[in-house]
Amino acid sequence: MQQDLLIVLMVIWLGISAGSVMLFQRGSDVQRKRKLWPGYTIFSNTVIAGFIIYMQPPLLMMIGLVTLLLPLTWLTIRSTKFCDSCGKASRSPFFMKPPTECSHCKKTL
Ligand SMILES: [Zn+2]
Repeated sequence: MQQDLLIVLMVIWLGISAGSVMLFQRGSDVQRKRKLWPGYTIFSNTVIAGFIIYMQPPLLMMIGLVTLLLPLTWLTIRSTKFCDSCGKASRSPFFMKPPTECSHCKKTL
């Protein structure tokens, strides 16, 4: 049962990742990407929170994990920038301060 759920979680996660590539790595509509990014990040982390709750871990662990998702969501939104010249996403590693140059074309963000 728990293993089935893990597979479902992985499939949904793959779907979200594929959606991310389609929406944010392809195309050059930077304005649209910037507009969609916070909503997308909140949505994907809400899915994760839903699964944590569905798996019914001990209450304290559940509260801890879901609470942890809040700053994580904010940091993910903050640490991702979209490049004006090539339209690609640059993400700073380990949620450090936002990237200052595009990781694809090296233009200043
Ligand atoms: Zn660029």
